[in-house]
Amino acid sequence: MKVVKFGGSSVADANQIIKVGNIIKQDDQRKFIVVSAPGKSDKFTEKMTDQLIKFFHSESKRDKDLYLQSILDRYNRITNELKVDMTIVSEIEATIYAILQSDKDEALKLDEIKAIGEDSSAKIISLYLQKIGLEATYLNPKDAGIIVSHEPGNAQLLPESYDNIYQLRHQTGRFVIPGFFGYTKTNELVTFSRGGSDITGSIVAAGVKASLYENFTDVDSVYTVNPNIVKNPKKIDVLTYKEMRELSYAGFSVFHDEALMPAFKANIPVAIKNTNNPESKGTHIVQKRKHQKDCVVGIASDTGFSSLYVRKYLMNREIGFGRKLFAILEEEGVSFEHAPSGIDDMSVIIRDTQLTSEKEENIINRINKELHPDTVQLEHGLAMIMVVGEGMMNTLGIAHKATTALKRAEVNIRMINQGSSEVSMMFGILKSDIEKAIVSLYDMFFQ
Ligand code: ASP
Repeated sequence: MKVVKFGGSSVADANQIIKVGNIIKQDDQRKFIVVSAPGKSDKFTEKMTDQLIKFFHSESKRDKDLYLQSILDRYNRITNELKVDMTIVSEIEATIYAILQSDKDEALKLDEIKAIGEDSSAKIISLYLQKIGLEATYLNPKDAGIIVSHEPGNAQLLPESYDNIYQLRHQTGRFVIPGFFGYTKTNELVTFSRGGSDITGSIVAAGVKASLYENFTDVDSVYTVNPNIVKNPKKIDVLTYKEMRELSYAGFSVFHDEALMPAFKANIPVAIKNTNNPESKGTHIVQKRKHQKDCVVGIASDTGFSSLYVRKYLMNREIGFGRKLFAILEEEGVSFEHAPSGIDDMSVIIRDTQLTSEKEENIINRINKELHPDTVQLEHGLAMIMVVGEGMMNTLGIAHKATTALKRAEVNIRMINQGSSEVSMMFGILKSDIEKAIVSLYDMFFQ
């Protein structure tokens, strides 16, 4: 039994949904189908989720009406071209009005509006599958037993969901489940973080103990490096969960970085495949792979980091220094990414999204007042590069090759962190150096 998830580009318009129908029809094992909201396509330049969010936030009646109209037009067009029952479009409109008129908090209303994208996809696709002769039913996440924490826009799955989902195994036919949201214990609809339909797919795959979780997107495979930076990079055939986790953390957007955990814990293999070219093998994510001599599997990069640098002579002997520093961050509500340290200094790497100028000022003032450092400074505009591959710890010369490549590209390394992870090596560099750094690293490891 397989769980198949189709991303936004796979359900962006009627043509794409027809491809989805063919893919499902080809394999009786494709029993649980998780879908995203319509994404971008040549016909539609905006993701449905973004349209819904803009609609919700627009203040003037005119803008609201315009957004609503374009949302409904899109659904009219999709259902019309698929030749399925179009009453669903007036149901969508009625649902939107009911949400706006309810007396819930704004955050919950927003989540309900956002969820309309996936919910409508699931309803439309189940109608279409029925039309092409398949026994398919729309299944709401509540009925699938997906119970989540009360964190609007950032829900976390509650573990009891797995037993509920397991019960679905015994039912006959196929089920189309909207991705991206679940329900709290008090029955509130709450969404996962953006891109979270992958999370639903992975949860359902783990819950029903699927033999495979197929994640259909619009690329033939995961590439060794961002194809926008290096033209036609090599494909990755197989990689491990840990490697995929590191790559998606640092900007490989093929797969949501929280989505691997459920599949990983339940040891469900994942295949990333292309809806537009389903015959292609795709990329498989597995527990273990054979390590080749060249253990580096991919190079990822992400921007939007800042480094909080704190220096104090004899820091290494000062008991509790690290704890106090992290307590300040905690009290300011800031989570950190990495914290490489030296004898007398420490850098704390923080995503820019965590900071505001007010928080920055508070953090610096408090560190000065409470920790009496010799230096404290915050540097913005950093990028992280991750060279990823299991087995690199036991392979000689990886760091040498990476630093040589960066030197060749005349990129100054601001920070190196191999940490205790055996899976990746991380380099902090200036954002402006990213392209040349990646090109040079790619040449070194893959050419
Ligand atoms: N539609 C949601 C988003 O755009 C979730 C997803 O597509 O995975 O974030």
